[in-house]
Amino acid sequence: MAEKKNVLDGVTGIDAADSAQNPVCRVAFIGSECYPFVKTGGLGDVMYALPRALIRENVEVRVILPLYRCIPDKYRDKLTYKGSFMMDLCSDGRTFYVGIMETEKDGVIYDFIDNREFFDWGNPYTGLWEDIPKYCYFSKASLAILNYLEWIPDVVHCHDWQAGLVPLYLRTRFNDTPIGRAKSIVTIHNLRFQGICGIEHLKYWTGLPDYLFDYPVFKRNEDEANMFKGGLAYADWITTVSATYAQEIQTPAFGEGLDSHLSYHSPKLCGIVNGIDVEQWDSAADKLLAAPYDVGSVLEKKRENKRALQEKLGLEQDDSKMVLGLISRLTDQKGLDLVDAIFPQLIDGNTQFVVLGTGDSRYENAFRYYEGIHKGTVCAFISYNEGLAHQIYAGADALLVPSLFEPCGLTQLIAMRYGTIPIVRETGGLKDTVQPYDGSAFTGNGFTFDHYNANLLLDAVNAARTLYFTDRVHWDDMVRRDMEKDVSWENSALQYLDLYLKLKG
Ligand code: ADP
Repeated sequence: MAEKKNVLDGVTGIDAADSAQNPVCRVAFIGSECYPFVKTGGLGDVMYALPRALIRENVEVRVILPLYRCIPDKYRDKLTYKGSFMMDLCSDGRTFYVGIMETEKDGVIYDFIDNREFFDWGNPYTGLWEDIPKYCYFSKASLAILNYLEWIPDVVHCHDWQAGLVPLYLRTRFNDTPIGRAKSIVTIHNLRFQGICGIEHLKYWTGLPDYLFDYPVFKRNEDEANMFKGGLAYADWITTVSATYAQEIQTPAFGEGLDSHLSYHSPKLCGIVNGIDVEQWDSAADKLLAAPYDVGSVLEKKRENKRALQEKLGLEQDDSKMVLGLISRLTDQKGLDLVDAIFPQLIDGNTQFVVLGTGDSRYENAFRYYEGIHKGTVCAFISYNEGLAHQIYAGADALLVPSLFEPCGLTQLIAMRYGTIPIVRETGGLKDTVQPYDGSAFTGNGFTFDHYNANLLLDAVNAARTLYFTDRVHWDDMVRRDMEKDVSWENSALQYLDLYLKLKG
């Protein structure tokens, strides 16, 4: 398939539908991260796990990603060249190379868009000035390659602002091409990131018509445009990753400046909570653990995993200590100022604390400092480390997720799957997935607090400690209950499928 053709023209080749085995529908996932190729947070997990869950429901899925330089060679080496073409992009007609590199894994096809000018910078995100052109290019090229490959999905499912322009290109430049018959969904994984820049900058890089740069679509204020705002306006449907966050983002406190825009578009907005891939996160088959375990062996094996974790991280080896874990991007979103505020009370002689994360130097330095003054009790592992994350989920007793806001949150889901009790703030998906412990009915999955307040976080930690140290029987019951809770994608994948079929009509 290496011959050149104009991907904006009608394509006359066979429709892939004729040759596939009658899938219930076809969906193209378009987003900027996907585990195991490239992941900086939960978006990467969802782009991996949801397509795999949909395949089991007989949906045909392609995942479209940028071919970033940081994708390890072991994956790059397996990619097959599928063709290339030049694509116009900017308002002055400037054109760019689009290469398609493909691989398949467990029934999901992954198409990587190759362009060294945009994607050879190392990390996925390098700063908005470069990122705006990068994701204008990515959004348009994603539709262009679907025409080129003659694989026309029923739905293009766009993830976060990096794919935010797709619905606009679909209804303008691509409307009269084969891909124009697809419907679009935009999923908001985190509204904080939107792709905001000067109006002229976006006009130049998108090459889109002037009428889109008015208030109902791109315009943010007299000088600025917002890529995500435009995409949300033009999407056929909008989802976000929990029912509570779907409501929260329509309020000024959580709307990141788009609350009234989202309220206006609320008839096409709903929340579908994320799951986790229960094969990727399976404590019984996890080769990264010192002692894999299931719900029958969790109590005994968790002690072994705790010892191994303590040894690895230079903590005092004592399984009677309660180990609190925190695995997170170290940013304001994650409630770390609350943790900082109560740190002296966290370290009480019976508690150890492990943090794994990178981010703002303010938090990195604070945790390094605490490690320095509490050697053997606190470990600050300031890096991104997939293997250690698994070992903390298995070896810790409880996991802190005190976020300021949390669209869904995956760490609390993984923690529960690994029998680690979440301590969370009742916001977004944390509220929807962690039922508070009720000490009279002996129900619930974790400890929660509502207002964003350090004392309330401390109360929740203390409630967890009290149960852990004084009523281990009921603590252990909760550990087993959490491991048995359904945190898989199955139910949510069916909700997405309903939506795809509704849009397909
Ligand atoms: P967000 O997407 O806002 O970063 P989520 O809770 O949705 O937060 O997803 C975070 C994902 O990234 C989880 O899979 C978590 O295990 C992983 N993660 C976060 N920080 C690290 C880290 N430093 N090392 C390894 N994995 C991490």
